Amino acid sequence: MLTSYCLASPQLNWGDDGAPHSTQFDDVYFDKDAGLEETRYVFLQHNQLDERWKSLGSSNKSHFTIAETGFGTGLNFLCAWQAFLASAPSDTTLHFISVEKFPLSKSALTNALKMWPSLETYSQALIAHYPELSHGLHRIELAQGRIQLTLWFGEAEEGFSALNADVDAWFLDGFAPSKNPEMWSPTLFKHIHRLSHQGTSFSTFTAAGIVRRGLKEVGFEVRKVKGFGHKREMAVGELAEQTLSLTERMSQGEAWFNVRQNPAALPTNNENQNKHVLVVGAGLAGATTAYALAKQGVNVTVWEQGESVACKASGNPQGMLYPKLASQDTPVNRFYLSAYLYASKLYSQLDDDAVFWQQCGLEQRPTSEKEKQRFASLLENKLYPESIVCKHGAEGSIFLPLSGWVVLTDLCHKLLDHPLIDVQLNTRLDALTKTGSVPLSWQASTQAQQQSFSHVVICTANDTHELDFLPKTPAYPIRGQVSYLPLEAAKKACSNANEDSAKLTTEHVLCQKGYVSPALQDTLHFGSTYDAKDQDETVRTEGHCRNLRILESLLHLKENTLNEEDCGGRVSFRCAIPDYTPMIGPIASPVELHSHYAILSKNAKWKCHQVAIEQEGLFINIGHGSRGLVSTPLSGAYLASLITNTPSPLEQSIINKLHPNRFVIRALKRSNAN
Ligand code: SAM
Repeated sequence: MLTSYCLASPQLNWGDDGAPHSTQFDDVYFDKDAGLEETRYVFLQHNQLDERWKSLGSSNKSHFTIAETGFGTGLNFLCAWQAFLASAPSDTTLHFISVEKFPLSKSALTNALKMWPSLETYSQALIAHYPELSHGLHRIELAQGRIQLTLWFGEAEEGFSALNADVDAWFLDGFAPSKNPEMWSPTLFKHIHRLSHQGTSFSTFTAAGIVRRGLKEVGFEVRKVKGFGHKREMAVGELAEQTLSLTERMSQGEAWFNVRQNPAALPTNNENQNKHVLVVGAGLAGATTAYALAKQGVNVTVWEQGESVACKASGNPQGMLYPKLASQDTPVNRFYLSAYLYASKLYSQLDDDAVFWQQCGLEQRPTSEKEKQRFASLLENKLYPESIVCKHGAEGSIFLPLSGWVVLTDLCHKLLDHPLIDVQLNTRLDALTKTGSVPLSWQASTQAQQQSFSHVVICTANDTHELDFLPKTPAYPIRGQVSYLPLEAAKKACSNANEDSAKLTTEHVLCQKGYVSPALQDTLHFGSTYDAKDQDETVRTEGHCRNLRILESLLHLKENTLNEEDCGGRVSFRCAIPDYTPMIGPIASPVELHSHYAILSKNAKWKCHQVAIEQEGLFINIGHGSRGLVSTPLSGAYLASLITNTPSPLEQSIINKLHPNRFVIRALKRSNAN
């Protein structure tokens, strides 16, 4: 467990020529005179990238994956990006994974990349989308999604051990082994092997024995070749044979949390164009999933039983990006943290004119003395970088500058507005059956039609219970009523109560027991009630009263200043899961899980790495509760990575926590305790 998500800064010395030099490692990031040529020679040329990218189309591959040790200034990444766009077919995607323990600040990065004017367009885009300096996995989408950067900020070994990916070429950079022996560890080589397939290549600027031996030991063929410029030697090679099974390579965790499909069952697996995914439900979960898939070149059909997009809980007029960040590091908190950073970036990217997304920040006031102390210790211990959470005002509040509010329906429409997405409204999924033939496919039926899909993703929140052909889920509804109050009426009520109507103005989202956002179209939107075991769909005055008292407290107005008769509102039902964590991943039959993993009921500590149940292309994405704006974009990207067999944007420990099989597995383990 980490004590802080903040990272150590690199110790840099800038030469007269403007090139960064690490004083910590006493080594250079790149050669100041010939850095570009060196990168192209060592990494691009010696992995034969130009030839391999040109032939992507004929080899039916939709993507290519590079992984690197040591992101540094991103020079290798930028060169690969530029060359990929020049050589690869236009419908293919480059995935670039890199790790960095001491990330440069944005200003240091800007400084360093000034040296390469020919890369300016790419550098500027990287700088604009450079992630917050916070520990963990960051996914950055560039060039309209054609370039996907997966950046691990933290120790290389930890990053690669947390990753699921199928790497085609390795850039083994990182400072010289003599200056940085810790990085070039046997565990790192083990993961390089695990993440590689037959034919995966590597190249590295060094020919040091520790590197050549490490790679040979895990099965790579290693050759020394002429180094760049005056350098005598460097090393290159490839993996002749992958001895690990697919599941050993893909799932480092327990077998029941495997998430990958066996490509053998799907001959068209590499061709995104041949996939056709049915997404059921057009709320936030469905829209973000469809968006992520379409960005990867996959055809998506969305079936929505309602008359419009976002017609249920995702249809409130104004939603806030409100992560509940914990005071300690857990896999679930890591999920919410990286999902939050991803969502904030995505909304800014989708709406750079700030039409439906306002990144105005969010103030979270403590709801109790205990929470006040929790906030104080979270700040004191510097758990989060200041750019993510900082102190605010005198009430013991914390402030989240990357938060803000969204017009939810506009967001969902924007996400679904893609040529590869076909949204069919008033279309209810009535039956789903699997065809036995290879490639597997799913026959989905409505009252009026039947259609075949390669994959299906169920994003139907509480309505999932009605799909009785699917395994039962533990999801349950929690009623929420939001209230709206026109500013005019609120001002009048303030003047009647001798209150200052300036208090109605807030520049940022305010949260405590409830929330209020800055006014949208001269109306305040606030709420929300939290009514478990309440199925009432009607808007109730009693709900407005509760919301108004919370609003008055948030705005420091006297109690009963505002009137419920002035309020409008909306009721919807959050979809909650008993462990307050969404269910995202492949669906398996509980009967099969019970029969294959029955040993768990006798031995809860059983470690099983032999995957018994193959994934067959059926997924679920539900249970986002009140946090859908935070959690759905990254969840969608994660599901898209499973379906396209591309690098996961989530750490394995997070994948396990979100896995739909967790309830059956827990029950099996508990039956042993009884
Ligand atoms: N590829 C980089 C580029 O294109 O600018 C240059 C990489 S620089 C030579 C080496 C990088 O490896 C540094 O940024 C350093 O902080 C990083 N590094 C060193 N040890 C590491 C470790 N154990 N885990 C992760 N990153 C590490």
